[in-house]
Amino acid sequence: MNFQSVLDEIDREIRPLLGAEGAVACYIPGLARVPVAQFGIALHTREGVEACAGDAATPFSIQSVSKLFTLTLAMRYLGDALWERIGREPSGNPFNSLVQLEHEQGKPRNPFINAGAIAIADRLVSRGQGKADLLAFMSDLCGEAVRYDEEVAASEAATGFRNIALANFMKSFGKIDNAVGEVLALYFHQCAIHMSCRQLARAAAFLCRDGAHPFDGRPEITTERHTHRINALMLTCGTYDAAGDVAFSIGLPCKSGVGGGIVAVVPDQLTLCVWSPALDASGNSLLGLKALELFVAKTGLSIF
Ligand code: GLN
Repeated sequence: MNFQSVLDEIDREIRPLLGAEGAVACYIPGLARVPVAQFGIALHTREGVEACAGDAATPFSIQSVSKLFTLTLAMRYLGDALWERIGREPSGNPFNSLVQLEHEQGKPRNPFINAGAIAIADRLVSRGQGKADLLAFMSDLCGEAVRYDEEVAASEAATGFRNIALANFMKSFGKIDNAVGEVLALYFHQCAIHMSCRQLARAAAFLCRDGAHPFDGRPEITTERHTHRINALMLTCGTYDAAGDVAFSIGLPCKSGVGGGIVAVVPDQLTLCVWSPALDASGNSLLGLKALELFVAKTGLSIF
């Protein structure tokens, strides 16, 4: 299949729609001032072929897409013990919701809502993993130095009252082992990782290669079994309370972030990253989802 011409076609179809609907995340200035009329798409195949179109080289705030990578690290360090602290069910609630935590004694529904990602950050801190380690992991995965946007990280910390509440609430149930401040420092930084579609499509490619490193023969990033499980969680929980709809209309495991990025996986074949900053009501990139719909329609790729 000529993926480059498929991506070029999608770029041509999406571009006239830029800026028409949706709104950029505006809870912090670093995201609010991102120009809305941008769209990028990139893919990386199992064999290492890359294709991209539009603003695929423009870095953006990966936000909750980072939850996919911290989950991968936590599964590596903890194996099945991770699931004593974090569930695997879709939440059906907004990503920053507090309501289920009380009923579930401080155990978050899944690793992809904020509470779950904060619990994962706590597990990583317990393993001596900090923000430098996470950045090294991301840089190794995409083969290029990536950085934190420190302004975004500082704003996340200054305005993250709900995340602070989530962390303290879980701590009150004895489900956070480390100092809340230290755990949140890692969480706020992971949200502020600055990467492009091209870098993210490549970084996630271990998910279409049974856990092998995206582009070279070094030791595997994770096991085949963990890869299957991460993909399952992306399908059921990766796009917040819209995960059912996304499975229905796109049919690929996806993880989105409020920076407008979405990583999608065609298991055993390729990873894909789309980005456009305007979001729908659930916090998913509106045109990013539209582009993924076009991609599956044009290629016939689906896990079903
Ligand atoms: N920084 C955002 C938060 O913690 C990330 C949320 C997201 O991308 N869904 O609320």
